[in-house]
Amino acid sequence: MSWDHRILTDAELMPATPDNLLSRVKSLMAQQKTAWPQLRDAISGFDEMRYKKLLAAGSVVLAQNNPRRIVSTAARVDSATIKERPCFLCPENLPPEEKGIAFKEDFVILCNPFPVLKNHLVITSRLHTPQTVIGNIGHMLDLAGRLGDEWFVLYNGPQCGASAPDHLHFQACSKEGVPIFDEIESWKRKTITRGAGLEVFTLLDYRLNLLAARCSNPDTLVQWFNEAVKYLQNLTNSLEEPLINIIIGIKNGELTLIVFPREKHRPDCFFAEGDAKLTVSPASIDLAGVLVVPDPGHFDKITDIDAGNIFREVTLNDSEFEEWMTNQPLDDQSSAPAFQGAEPHTP
Ligand SMILES: [Zn+2]
Repeated sequence: MSWDHRILTDAELMPATPDNLLSRVKSLMAQQKTAWPQLRDAISGFDEMRYKKLLAAGSVVLAQNNPRRIVSTAARVDSATIKERPCFLCPENLPPEEKGIAFKEDFVILCNPFPVLKNHLVITSRLHTPQTVIGNIGHMLDLAGRLGDEWFVLYNGPQCGASAPDHLHFQACSKEGVPIFDEIESWKRKTITRGAGLEVFTLLDYRLNLLAARCSNPDTLVQWFNEAVKYLQNLTNSLEEPLINIIIGIKNGELTLIVFPREKHRPDCFFAEGDAKLTVSPASIDLAGVLVVPDPGHFDKITDIDAGNIFREVTLNDSEFEEWMTNQPLDDQSSAPAFQGAEPHTP
């Protein structure tokens, strides 16, 4: 089956404004909520979710008890398992009711049937091609700009959170209730470089190591990102792309791209037995401050200290982070080699 049968027509999207992506996304969500019972049930499940406010190094973390996410949180993503299962992002394997809208030439926007946040979308490649951010960061920035200030776009690397590492995709959600979007403005920051309309900074004594770049020009961010990630790849001796999660938001015309460099995929408590076990598997949304804890017993027992330890354990260690941070490209960006395979941003 091709994607043609999955794309809603303009008539089905009425009364969406044809050339306005946000308007079309809202129509898609309304249509899917009506036509797709599984999605409707999942959205109504938001009312059953429990939240618990934790503090990790002074930063707010909302633990979310979301039993429907156990499939994703505990998913086996080793290559043998992935090869054997039908890909849930290929059109022939989607539930019959699942439909989408086109995004640019190569992507389709779908509703996520296992939402963590409000307005949770999956943006999937039309091709069954491996998950990689290389060559795709421009598409994510473009999407963030077109969805506007209430949304953010996220990416989980194939070895740190993507439940379909074999099929290129990213996601988008509402920013509502996600702690990092307030903290990125209010937390004490350390500016690494500033110039040419680009500011690169980190948050001081934060619960994890992150690097953020802010600019109104997406092309500048694409160039910074490609060079910064190339350096991180070498620093961490990664054969393919380094372990990263990414979130992108826009506010008042300025894009903020946050990179979470990773040390490992899952914390030790994920593999522990008995009392020490906590089934958590952090990816972008968790790192942004909404920590999904599907098991009700684990949700009840998780503490501030657990949350702090989990974030420190799965994100890049201080010494390598420090080295990455102090070797940021900026002054002469044109002299640094572009990441192999990277493509320039096209609007
Ligand atoms: Zn696929």
